[in-house]
Amino acid sequence: MSKPLPEPPPMDQFSSLGGELQLAGQSITAVREKMGGTPFYAYDSTVIRARVAELRRVFPDQLSLHYAMKANPMPEVVKLLATLTDGLDVASGLELAVALTSDTNPADMSFAGPGKSTVELEAAVRAGVILNMESVGEMRRIAAIGDATGVQPRVAVRVNPAFELKTSGMKMGGGPKPFGVDEEQVPDMLRELGALGLDFRGFHIYSGSQNLRVDAIIEAQNKTLALATELAEHAPATPRWLNIGGGLGVPYFPGERALDLAPIADNLELLLQRAKQQLPEAEIVMELGRYLVAEAGVYVCEVVDVKQSRGETFAVTNGGLHHHLAASGNFGQVIRKNYPVAVANKMDEVERQPLNVVGPLCTPLDILADKYPLPPVEPGDLIAVYQSGAYGFTASPRDFLSHPQPGQILL
Ligand SMILES: *Cc1c(COP(=O)(O)O)cnc(C)c1O
Repeated sequence: MSKPLPEPPPMDQFSSLGGELQLAGQSITAVREKMGGTPFYAYDSTVIRARVAELRRVFPDQLSLHYAMKANPMPEVVKLLATLTDGLDVASGLELAVALTSDTNPADMSFAGPGKSTVELEAAVRAGVILNMESVGEMRRIAAIGDATGVQPRVAVRVNPAFELKTSGMKMGGGPKPFGVDEEQVPDMLRELGALGLDFRGFHIYSGSQNLRVDAIIEAQNKTLALATELAEHAPATPRWLNIGGGLGVPYFPGERALDLAPIADNLELLLQRAKQQLPEAEIVMELGRYLVAEAGVYVCEVVDVKQSRGETFAVTNGGLHHHLAASGNFGQVIRKNYPVAVANKMDEVERQPLNVVGPLCTPLDILADKYPLPPVEPGDLIAVYQSGAYGFTASPRDFLSHPQPGQILL
């Protein structure tokens, strides 16, 4: 007997009515109409609000929640999250410009990322956001900008810890990395920092992303506080700010399940009690990207052609890899796995057949679903790719093959 295949993650964030997927109370056909056609990304604000509300309910009140904009920098999405979270984390000058149009106080913004340009550094210094310094060289450049502008830069040291976030989808700390300053080098850097006239705020320690293992997340968060406490002894001023990173993952692939937040919340409660003793002045910040937005978004494209090839059925759509690199399996995945998909105008159909959903690009990489159990389709049917609210629109090579750009809407 063959092993049963793992089930895709439950897709219960949206309802359906009369066979039509519903997004923020609107049918997929109505949304398509509003967009003037397909393909498009649609983000459901009710799902984003519910997600933040759940975190507020289970996590300790004193924990600050920030939104890491690179997950989805659409200005409407950023403006919504600015009203729901305690701060925004940006990673480029343009993200900073968008953040500065929101309701968030610049003092509650931070700017991370290696290789910040002089123009970006100066904009950040003038705006008064916290610069997460990625190297000693960057620190010296920031100090020079402070001297030249007469504005005291607000800075934190981004630390590359010696530990890793285990089983993380993307490791951003541990070992040699372009991100942050190795923890061994931080004491010397802090000594120099004290002489540079910078406003030292604290530390940023981000060890990884897309983690679905509760024990690994808890371990990394505990090590993060311990490391910050150790490094604080070398700091020129008492830390006012500690960004402990995020890393909370969302289920994308068969067999993956949503994180159980309760044990993470219990640990954060204890962590904040320790922080009160060890770093009494520090605001503790968690920065989340995909966890806030991924499940609120769908990518919708339309079947253009249906064909058979040697026993398999192919639905060729007007969307694909160029709009949604991650769903095609080409955004860091080692083995291609299917994102959850549905035929958004046939949600009640019970018949299922294995279907290959592909895009219009002349490359075999342009796959949205591989032998996925879906109802029989015909041209005009709408394919929805779930879990698409993060690292979709802006993480895709949208000019590749010069097809029309997808739309985007926050509902
Ligand atoms: C990318 C990034 C995030 C967001 O990661 P998610 O997996 O989307 O939560 C947060 N912080 C930093 C420093 C990042 O580089």
